[in-house]
Amino acid sequence: MLKRRRGQNASINPALEHIEVDADILRASLTCEMCKNILREANTVTECLHSFCFQCISSKMIVGQSNYCPACGSSDSSLGVNPFLDKKIITDGRKNHLCQTFREMLEEKEVVEDGKGEKEGGEKEGEKKGEEQASMEEA
Ligand SMILES: [Zn+2]
Ligand SMILES: [Zn+2]
Repeated sequence: MLKRRRGQNASINPALEHIEVDADILRASLTCEMCKNILREANTVTECLHSFCFQCISSKMIVGQSNYCPACGSSDSSLGVNPFLDKKIITDGRKNHLCQTFREMLEEKEVVEDGKGEKEGGEKEGEKKGEEQASMEEA
């Protein structure tokens, strides 16, 4: 019985369930360990793979002193006296790109939700365009 119930739950809307989980995982991995916002100019500590905004991490790193990852806080892994030059902290272009995409995704979602409440005419126009395209395809 238990197995059957689980199966039913999963099949209600497996696609949606998937998207929600992915968004959570994405958000978690794209969050700055310091300011807890979506990363801006993502920089990743190569020792522990913690990620920070460039502004956040650079405000903590003091050139000429021994630096440590602000998220770990431990002195186990030293980042050296110049973490950026020594490539202990690197600009994470891939993560940065993901953050941008994720932000756009969130913004788009907000725009769509706002639009629905205010305008009904917009949807009708869209339908007409769709019909025109469909008839052209037929001919
Ligand atoms: Zn930050
Ligand atoms: Zn760390």
